[in-house]
Amino acid sequence: MARIVLIVDNNANQSLLNEFLSAYHSVGEHQHGQPLEEVFDLCIIDDVNLSRFKDELEARRDAEQPGILPVLLVTHRPDVWARAPHLWQLVDESIMVPVAKLELQARIEILLRARRISLDLKLRNEDQEAFIRAMSHDLRASVRAVTMFAEAVSMSEKDRFSEEGKQDLERIRWAAQEMRDLIDSLLNFSRLGRGEVRYEPIDLKAYIETCLRNLHGEIRNRNAHIKVKSRARTVQADPTLLKIALTNLLSNAIKFVPEGVEPEITVSASVRRDLCRIEIGDNGIGISREDQQRIFMPFVRLYSDEDFPGVGLGLPSVRKAVELMGGRVGVESQPGRGSRFWIELAM
Ligand code: ADP
Repeated sequence: MARIVLIVDNNANQSLLNEFLSAYHSVGEHQHGQPLEEVFDLCIIDDVNLSRFKDELEARRDAEQPGILPVLLVTHRPDVWARAPHLWQLVDESIMVPVAKLELQARIEILLRARRISLDLKLRNEDQEAFIRAMSHDLRASVRAVTMFAEAVSMSEKDRFSEEGKQDLERIRWAAQEMRDLIDSLLNFSRLGRGEVRYEPIDLKAYIETCLRNLHGEIRNRNAHIKVKSRARTVQADPTLLKIALTNLLSNAIKFVPEGVEPEITVSASVRRDLCRIEIGDNGIGISREDQQRIFMPFVRLYSDEDFPGVGLGLPSVRKAVELMGGRVGVESQPGRGSRFWIELAM
């Protein structure tokens, strides 16, 4: 049964609400003058108490994230949302006094449903994280054992190994390293977005240049030519998430180019109305229409590791990073004619 706390000064209103809601829920009345310590799934509060308990409610709601701890405001003011433009940060719904019972019931059901779904998702995420942590810990231990025994054999049997045997040992070391990389990528992907999204003004051109400096080795190895054209000055974005998105897209643009062809990459950024669009165009192998959606799913790779090494978590990380910032990502491409990946962020 959902727990509802009532923080309403007017005794008559409080009793009416309590009587009506107690038929379906467990209802508690907050004691006047006491700190907000009750455990609840929904808080029904009036205007006066909202100002009184603003800080406590804010802290309680923050602590529940990403779960939703709903607050319903009971008010006399029809223009309450217009008067307080930031009210939505503290309140999820409002209802006018005198309260219409059916309307109240509908609003409460919707808010409690949102709470249930958010708690369910939170629990599933926590389960998934615990599972990934435990799995990667065990896998790491197994990979360590493989590497250790391969080293031990290579030392103790050094003089008896044929050329083929030495090559096989080298393959074991290489496969173990691949496994370690895969575990690291999986952990990084599952951690992505666990922290809060922090928006900062970012000078886009300078930021793209920084991302390119981090890819210096890849750019030099492939002799890639990169042009940056930016008409957008500053965007509001989370620097860590933006870096993950840009670095993965740039790295792919350098990588997915046929052997012997020098990558030609154009990075452009423009602003239209309140939307910033960043495009990364390449002269690579391209992607067929059927594959353009599914490559953003985890572990989808269109080529073998020998042709193009990777684990298939680059584009899913781009999508996750961009969507955490409330943006969108997509691609336009044709096989053999290069690709143009784009990101759109609200300014
Ligand atoms: P990875 O790079 O590790 O293979 P990604 O998730 O970054 O994984 O990309 C998934 C797949 O999408 C790649 O394996 C490749 O087939 C395709 N892809 C991504 N970027 C490009 C690109 N710029 N050009 C052509 N294909 C690409």
